[in-house]
Amino acid sequence: MLISYELLGKLFVFLVVAVVLVTGIALLLGAISIRRHKIIFPNFILFMLYLFYSPAKWICRVFSIKEEIVDEILIEVRNAVMLDMFKKKTDRRAVILPQCMRHPECKARCDPIMGYECTKCGKCDIKDIIEAAEKHNFKVFTVPGDSFVRKIIKSYDPGVCLGVACYVELTESMQSVSKFMPVQGVCLIRDGCYDTKVDVAEVIHKMEICDV
Ligand code: SF4
Repeated sequence: MLISYELLGKLFVFLVVAVVLVTGIALLLGAISIRRHKIIFPNFILFMLYLFYSPAKWICRVFSIKEEIVDEILIEVRNAVMLDMFKKKTDRRAVILPQCMRHPECKARCDPIMGYECTKCGKCDIKDIIEAAEKHNFKVFTVPGDSFVRKIIKSYDPGVCLGVACYVELTESMQSVSKFMPVQGVCLIRDGCYDTKVDVAEVIHKMEICDV
């Protein structure tokens, strides 16, 4: 049977409209969920926004909404879905920090497998996070990139992982790491690959909830 170009064109337009519509619904549900602190249809939101990540960002641009909302929704929905499983694990708990949080004058040596070995000099927030982690039975890794996350998963074999990164990287790494273990994520409050900052209290709070 021959399919005419006209029919193909109509089919294409229908598909584009359907993708935009369904992605828009997922975005709306995600935004409402975050606003109300109650996640509705989490699996639908995660599936649609990961599948149509770029169209979701495009929709935000068209409606002059900040694009980061897509990542924010994915991170918060994933956090909510995995929170109970994350809290239950009592050993081999890891915190993974980006190396850009280090002070520009940091002298820490970089281990080829475990990442930077902080000496707790106190020039950046990593020292405070490590000290809180020791109290709450977490091990902190400060890594220069994604390849180190894979090495840590292989060598340390964590049971749960608390990650810190910028929006886009956190969205990606939470998706890949969540295939192996429960995850939680905290986004940087100042990103930019250099002298970045996280809300330390929020990171510590994520560790504290595991002690309940
Ligand atoms: S606290 Fe650790 S990571 Fe931060 S600058 Fe000092 S040695 Fe480097």
